[in-house]
Amino acid sequence: MFGWLRRKWREKGHFARLDSAAFPRFEPGSVWLVGAGPGAPGLISLLGYHALSEADVIVHDALVGPSLLELANPRAKTIFAGKRGGKPSPKQADITLKLIEHARAGKRVLRLKGGDPMMFGRGGEEAETLARNAIPFRIVPGITAGIGGLAYAGIPVTHRDANHAVMFLTGHDEKGGVPEGVDWDAVARAVPVIVIYMAVKHLALIAERLLAAGRSGDDRVAIISHAASPAQSVIETRLADIGQLILADIPTPAIVVLGPVSNYRAALDWYRGALRENSLG
Ligand code: SAH
Repeated sequence: MFGWLRRKWREKGHFARLDSAAFPRFEPGSVWLVGAGPGAPGLISLLGYHALSEADVIVHDALVGPSLLELANPRAKTIFAGKRGGKPSPKQADITLKLIEHARAGKRVLRLKGGDPMMFGRGGEEAETLARNAIPFRIVPGITAGIGGLAYAGIPVTHRDANHAVMFLTGHDEKGGVPEGVDWDAVARAVPVIVIYMAVKHLALIAERLLAAGRSGDDRVAIISHAASPAQSVIETRLADIGQLILADIPTPAIVVLGPVSNYRAALDWYRGALRENSLG
């Protein structure tokens, strides 16, 4: 699929830079923790693509789309390690054990995660366990939903006229509730733009806490579902009106952005009209 790019680079005399010899070697017995990006397969990095074509074993979560896995080495064994059909997700310890087991068997193990592996993705925990077990690993960052997903909805995560800071927040902790260690008063006051992952389930409660902490009810809210995929849809509302939404009807995964940057969407919503057929993006 990179044929055309290779040709182009070759014409320009740059071919060697995309040659597989230019990539770091995916050593047998090692694990690469790779971010797949938020949705469109073309949003994976060149290193991630290289890993897909070299891996012997691919352990992926539910956020990784099937069209990205189609780009993988057809001989690779793919293992699904996510939530499916409402069943509980496999235990984190079991997933990491699997990575270690395959690495010890001399396989090149690709741990493929949606977005960026280190952003609310437990990449840090998995890397810690690999390090503890002396398994060589590499981390390949990906485009996180809280930045790339917004871009696909025509929302800049920062804009000089809107915000000088941004906060990434999770709406969900490991016990399944609204995270407890969060100082909502501070959060409400800290920054103009708050990007909330895993927010839909508790969105009404989160909105209540922010309003109670003094955040303006007029604050713009955008909820982007299935970002960067043909199923992408966006709900725009105000913080004060979140209570009127039927949260159960909002398709997930969804990323929530609170603050004035959503205003740019009116002018920047490029993806709706973009050509998507046979496209990686
Ligand atoms: N590591 C991932 C985040 C994992 S947490 C990343 O960097 O993007 C899972 C949450 O990410 C989802 O609940 C949702 O809030 C967000 N998310 C991931 N992919 C998404 C997508 N394509 N569209 C909207 N939200 C997405």
